[in-house]
Amino acid sequence: MTFLGMPATGPAVTALPASADGPAGQPLDLSILYRGPLASCDYDCPYCPFAKRRDTPGQLRADRAALERFTGWVAERAGTGDTVSVLFTPWGEGLVRSWYRRALVELSRLPHVRRVAIQTNLSCRTGWLAEADLDTLAFWVTYHPGQVDHDRFLAKCRELDALGARYSIGVVGQPEHLAAARRLRAELPPAVYLWINAAEGYTYTDEEAADWTALDPHFGFSRHAHPSAGRPCRTGESVVSVDGDGTVRRCHFVREELGNLYDGSYRARLAPRACPLPVCDCHIGYVHLETLPLYDVFAGGVLERIPHTR
Ligand code: SF4
Ligand code: SF4
Repeated sequence: MTFLGMPATGPAVTALPASADGPAGQPLDLSILYRGPLASCDYDCPYCPFAKRRDTPGQLRADRAALERFTGWVAERAGTGDTVSVLFTPWGEGLVRSWYRRALVELSRLPHVRRVAIQTNLSCRTGWLAEADLDTLAFWVTYHPGQVDHDRFLAKCRELDALGARYSIGVVGQPEHLAAARRLRAELPPAVYLWINAAEGYTYTDEEAADWTALDPHFGFSRHAHPSAGRPCRTGESVVSVDGDGTVRRCHFVREELGNLYDGSYRARLAPRACPLPVCDCHIGYVHLETLPLYDVFAGGVLERIPHTR
């Protein structure tokens, strides 16, 4: 996955109070960012602040149990009127683990699941996709030029193309990645969107930003953090973050808890809310800011980061 989703820091500002009579009892159309305890990865990107852990067998068992509990909860929404979309945002790489592949297949086949997607480095094999519903499944792929050979990575993309799988591909906009990103863009099918994430802590000159914008027309949204304090954000209302214990938060960055998924306590807390943090600098967060036009830009592909039109 990418190194997105680190808790933001900074002075909190007061959130709007949650409605006392939230939408408990009413059917929900909920988007869930799920992040269980898994933290290991088969890559070792120097710019990754996570995934430096080697998960023990016990930690892997716990991650598997948590994921299976979550997918069971989603499956139980059938017939309730709820519809669910899921983006898995693991700290590490999920698709090298059988339980993530199985979760994607199973969720993709449920009629009340509108979308299931995962952030991945795409190092996994692709044969398991034969069992998935590819109208529902999608991938948020990150290309890490220092970790995988160009031809090998491109071959994996071509496998997705041959299967008709939906995916976006991104590159962290480190200066040393520019040549590799240009080469990938030139060889990917034009219809595949290549996104560029601004590198953490790096300030781009206008000339550098123009180079990246030539590859990703939406790079401007990533270049600078978005002021978000007091601005309406869909998280906490139609989008939530869920961890392995079922703890529900509005997003991966705001630590306040809204309740628990499994006892249903989160439902009454779902309500329109303003962002309590000064800025939001991660796509998986600011895509939901109502003051940005990104639900239009990414219409039909908000979770997997596929724009409506390039
Ligand atoms: S692939 Fe993603 S999770 Fe793995 S080391 Fe690289 S940035 Fe970290
Ligand atoms: S803008 Fe939304 S996603 Fe970003 S930190 Fe604020 S509440 Fe979370």
